[in-house]
Amino acid sequence: YYNQDTYIYLDGEFVKASEAGTDFFGQALHYGYGAFEGLRAYSTHNGVRMFKAEAHFDRLRTSCESINLPFPWSTRELIEQTYELLAKNNMRAAYIRPLVFSGSNMHLTSAANSSIVIAAWEWGPFLGQNLLKVCLSDIRRPHPKSFQIDAKISGQYINAIRATSDAIRKGFDEALMLDQDGFVAQASSENLFIEKDFKLYTPPVQHVFPGITRQTVIDICRDLNFDLIEKRLTIEDLYTADSAFLCGTAAGIIGIKQIDDTAYPEDWEHTIGASIQRTYKKLVLEQENYEVII
Ligand code: PMP
Repeated sequence: YYNQDTYIYLDGEFVKASEAGTDFFGQALHYGYGAFEGLRAYSTHNGVRMFKAEAHFDRLRTSCESINLPFPWSTRELIEQTYELLAKNNMRAAYIRPLVFSGSNMHLTSAANSSIVIAAWEWGPFLGQNLLKVCLSDIRRPHPKSFQIDAKISGQYINAIRATSDAIRKGFDEALMLDQDGFVAQASSENLFIEKDFKLYTPPVQHVFPGITRQTVIDICRDLNFDLIEKRLTIEDLYTADSAFLCGTAAGIIGIKQIDDTAYPEDWEHTIGASIQRTYKKLVLEQENYEVII
């Protein structure tokens, strides 16, 4: 999917990925001291448009600030440079990965300076298009008193890599993780919604990553008059739901067929989740006011 022949944006310049170098004596490589984002550009009726680019670059800034990683760039300049990057690479639809990282320092002290790289590649839905088989992982989400769970910090994703790899090894597509108190939190890199008796539920943002897609789903629910309740979810809530779905920038909105050995009873096409999925696709592709389509 990614291609070393494409251009990347590195500290103010556009360079071929294959020709860009990095410092091997750096905190990002050794300790995971970096922060990143994942956003998408879509080929819309209004041309190439990134979806909620400001929210993503603002979140990149707050992720960096939460770990004292210098962030001397403005959201506006990063958005402009990213559009230029897409044009240089002739990409009309792409997944975009900005990464801020600390280089040239091996101490366990806050970074004195940082670099930014923005890469892009053409990428379909991260988890495919089919309904998912998901398992509940033994690996829990990072503890909020030890980690910045509301930020996209590079090193924290080792947890996600372990949980997802375990899930795939067991024949599932993705892993769900509990939070520090044993409530169902989210998947490795997607937020979770469940549907029960025509109402949607999702854990409150204090206990999960504040996904931008999660917020978009909540906004769609408000617009379409679906009942949406933010509350902590028990394992029993998860197993006794009528249906469920995951959402994230990379994955989009994708229905869950089964949790462990328990299949959801509701036919996905008739769920609230499926209506939201259709609306979301329209929203990102047109990026204009969307009609009610249920
Ligand atoms: N949870 C985690 C841990 C993530 O890394 C992501 C992807 N950034 C998400 C959820 C989904 O967030 P978003 O909708 O902003 O892509």
